[in-house]
Amino acid sequence: MSEIISIPELVAVCVEAAERACSRIRSIHATGNLKAIEKGDGTDALTGRPMADTQTEADRQSEKIIFSVIKKHYPELRIIGEEESSSCSLAFDEDAEEVLLSPRVITSRSTVLKNLDVPVHAPTSELTLFVDPLDGTNEFVSGHLHCVSVLIGIARNGIRLAGVIGRPFPDTEVCNDELMYALVGQGVFVDHCEININKKVNNLVKITTTLKRTSRVMSRIFELMTPVDIVKEGGAGWKFWLVASGRVDCYQYARPGTKKWDALAGDAVISTLGGAVTDACGRPIVYSTDPATFNNEWGIIASVDRSFHFSKLVVACHAALCEDPGSEWPKGLEIPPLTRESNL
Ligand code: AMP
Ligand code: MG
Ligand code: MG
Repeated sequence: MSEIISIPELVAVCVEAAERACSRIRSIHATGNLKAIEKGDGTDALTGRPMADTQTEADRQSEKIIFSVIKKHYPELRIIGEEESSSCSLAFDEDAEEVLLSPRVITSRSTVLKNLDVPVHAPTSELTLFVDPLDGTNEFVSGHLHCVSVLIGIARNGIRLAGVIGRPFPDTEVCNDELMYALVGQGVFVDHCEININKKVNNLVKITTTLKRTSRVMSRIFELMTPVDIVKEGGAGWKFWLVASGRVDCYQYARPGTKKWDALAGDAVISTLGGAVTDACGRPIVYSTDPATFNNEWGIIASVDRSFHFSKLVVACHAALCEDPGSEWPKGLEIPPLTRESNL
């Protein structure tokens, strides 16, 4: 028999874990010694092109802290972390840990519980957490610190349920908020204040995408959606944040590369706001525990305006994909049919 737990309480623990992790990321950054190693072989596994897949001491320690804090409260909970296979054996003493928080976002379980004051429960056996302990490692190493985030997503039976996004380096010029959390059906909170976005997309679509080279298919999508204002930014978590906060209309990464831990927290946030997060064919992202499914092999796209998402963004992505599947997409797999909102 698995234990039945309160989801708001779990979210509150995840908020605490994210804040402790952000604090540790900041202190490692301050040492100036990031101890970066290359996880992959220096090439993109899908395209063979040169690509860094870097891991730093901050990625390793952040994951260790998040696992320790959550496992202390929920030893049975299934947590899948990006760095799990290579996680260092750092001893983590939560009580000895100094947490450097801004006065605005002091770790406060009671504040989260007050905001999420609903009796939502689930058995631990139905829950899986996906953790990206430091999203935007390339930006962390290159000093584009506002793009860095800590991502903790909670799925129930493979479907997004809740998410926490922490920003270790809130940059005053770009955005000085540092914490976002959501429980589907309940609300999204930025630095503990509820946000609502009721956004309709104008003729000129403001669309965020990777700082890296855009693929042929991704460029074609922009052509099909013209006029567009392209906002190139690093990190998946930060791009979800830009959509959720209304700074852009949508996020387009219609190619493989991201993993489930890049998507789940942002998916929970955008879904709670009434938006949509799907693959490039309009299918919802399923958060299975099977490692063979961890790649978002048909990409991720997100919009806060759900009707725009299905009538414009998905249609452009699917059309571009069918015109030219592109060398980076899974070989030998047929392109899935376009999923319309009415099919969901
Ligand atoms: P980007 O939009 O390029 O900044 O990517 C967002 C996040 O997705 C990165 O921080 C990585 O976590 C992940 N990601 C995207 N593309 C790849 C890739 N080709 N290989 C590994 N991770 C990727
Ligand atoms: Mg990532
Ligand atoms: Mg990462």
